[in-house]
Amino acid sequence: MKTARNLDHLPPYLFAQIDAKRDALVSQGIDVISLGIGDPDIPTPEHIVEAMAQAIRNPANHRYPDYAGSKDYRQACAGWMQRRFGVELDPATEVLALIGSKEGIAHIQTAFVNPGDYVLAPSIGYPVYSGGATLMHAQTYFMPMRAENGFLAEFDTVPGEILAQAKILFIGYPNNPTGAIATPEYFDAAIAFCKEHDLLLVHDNAYSELGFDGYVAPSILERPGAKEVAIEMFSLSKTYNMTGWRIAFACGNPTAIKALGTVKNNLDSGQFGAIQEAAIVAMESSQDCVAQMCVLYQRRRDLVLDALHAIGIECEAPKATIYVWVKIPEGYTSASFAEKVLTEAHVIVTPGSGYGPDGEGFIRISLTTPDELLLEAVRRIKETMAK
Ligand SMILES: *Cc1c(COP(=O)(O)O)cnc(C)c1O
Repeated sequence: MKTARNLDHLPPYLFAQIDAKRDALVSQGIDVISLGIGDPDIPTPEHIVEAMAQAIRNPANHRYPDYAGSKDYRQACAGWMQRRFGVELDPATEVLALIGSKEGIAHIQTAFVNPGDYVLAPSIGYPVYSGGATLMHAQTYFMPMRAENGFLAEFDTVPGEILAQAKILFIGYPNNPTGAIATPEYFDAAIAFCKEHDLLLVHDNAYSELGFDGYVAPSILERPGAKEVAIEMFSLSKTYNMTGWRIAFACGNPTAIKALGTVKNNLDSGQFGAIQEAAIVAMESSQDCVAQMCVLYQRRRDLVLDALHAIGIECEAPKATIYVWVKIPEGYTSASFAEKVLTEAHVIVTPGSGYGPDGEGFIRISLTTPDELLLEAVRRIKETMAK
């Protein structure tokens, strides 16, 4: 049996590799603390779980759902975008339900990318941007991202011959893994660039609700002319502690939404109706639960920054997301530092190099671990570094 060539070109999925190392240590009875994966440790808020419990008993939900998402769900998504960002969307043509935004990020490539084409991805970013391209037998061009430029992906340096074959430009701010945020001017420049070069702009907005120190993140669709070239992926995963539920939506440019919908019609049959009903409740109820999560993550962020400071590692306080992006000490690579921390301190951190070429020299610490464990992990790292 021979599998498709493109599978050989996929790097091992970052988190799968880390999980395997963890499992090996755990099987030796070692207590490993994971600051690796970005997966909220706090349960989904009770009112959302309760809505699901009721919706699951409705036999209408036991049948195939509307592939694009129920009318009510798409209406709720549009309403949420309107209340939160002042963005007007037609729920029928400019909103599409997703089975998690990861699915949308992968499948938008099926809708736009031909074999041999290029996808422009941040050189530090969510692995699915390039993984999705590889699955389409396409190439990824990594746009440089540098600390001195606020980790804003530098699309204006992409060579002309690459641009001529490029179809999609992916960005996402607040950014996983760097915690960077974008300025309105940056969004405007990205929109103008995609117009000029006939690219689809995909803004991956998984962390817009998790801001700190009063920071409130925008939608790219707030920017003038955005809808002519852009779609945004919004996910309920990190916002409402719903990673396991697999619910998100894409919104914006109707041509892109239609194309993505066509791909999905041929691949899946939509998300479970009961989950859509619970998601409506999440978006339409009080957002106090989200505010509480921001307080929690901000506290954890500060705990981590203080502890790192105490061991002589300085890093800037991120204004959003659930990550701290840390420059590693001299004399290590991302991988060798993560390896040392795992084998000696029994703490999992994610090597920055796993997010792309410019991630080298950094690690990512996730804040989705209870305070005590987070502190214990940093204490162990301190001990290891003092050796
Ligand atoms: C978590 C994450 C996603 C995926 O979210 P799902 O909706 O759970 O698939 C997408 N993009 C980024 C940058 C993320 O960190």
